[in-house]
Amino acid sequence: RFVTVEGGEGAGKTTVLHALREALSAGGDDVVCTREPGGTPLAELIRGLLLDPGHEPAAPDTELLLMFAARAQHVRMTILPALERGAWVVSDRFTDSSYAYQGGGRGIDPARIAALEAAHVGIAPAITLLLDLGVAQGRERARGRDAFPDRIEAEQDAFFERVRRAFLARAQAEPQRVHVIDATRPADVVAEDAVRALTAARGR
Ligand code: C5P
Ligand code: MG
Repeated sequence: RFVTVEGGEGAGKTTVLHALREALSAGGDDVVCTREPGGTPLAELIRGLLLDPGHEPAAPDTELLLMFAARAQHVRMTILPALERGAWVVSDRFTDSSYAYQGGGRGIDPARIAALEAAHVGIAPAITLLLDLGVAQGRERARGRDAFPDRIEAEQDAFFERVRRAFLARAQAEPQRVHVIDATRPADVVAEDAVRALTAARGR
């Protein structure tokens, strides 16, 4: 019952999250929608630190460890309790984002990230919907949103190309779990497709 939504900036994750919540709660199920980095008060503070332009940029490993510090808290305080009481948990980003941004984007060895997955205490998404979109299109759609200050116009397209490739590599490695959704289409069409993919995956 743990579902994650992944993808680059401007891919339409928010619209998809709303649609998944509607679809899952229509049957009367309890649904908890959450996000990373964040999802608990302490983890949201860590998010604030990461996105705050008021200090020096985080070194790659600092960024990775803060992401996992936030995630450890998120798993224990929000995700696990919800799953234990039988709720669906739908998270806007999870560890695939660390492989994409801290791994692909910032060049951290995936084995280092894998070692930190101990923080998951045994949980893992059953279904991941990867909203895939070209970098230029995502950039246009995501103007003015929450973003790492040093990435806004600085690191640019090469960085986000690496992020996209790392996400797609995750899908290729785990095709049963990760469903790639073409996010170049309008947000409502993408959301419909995401609901369909989730429904189909549940049926298996
Ligand atoms: O998901 P959202 O767009 O709100 O994420 C906020 C920012 O955090 C984005 O710039 C995203 O690229 C970044 N991020 C990251 N590494 C993660 C998760 C999010 O760099 N593991
Ligand atoms: Mg967002």
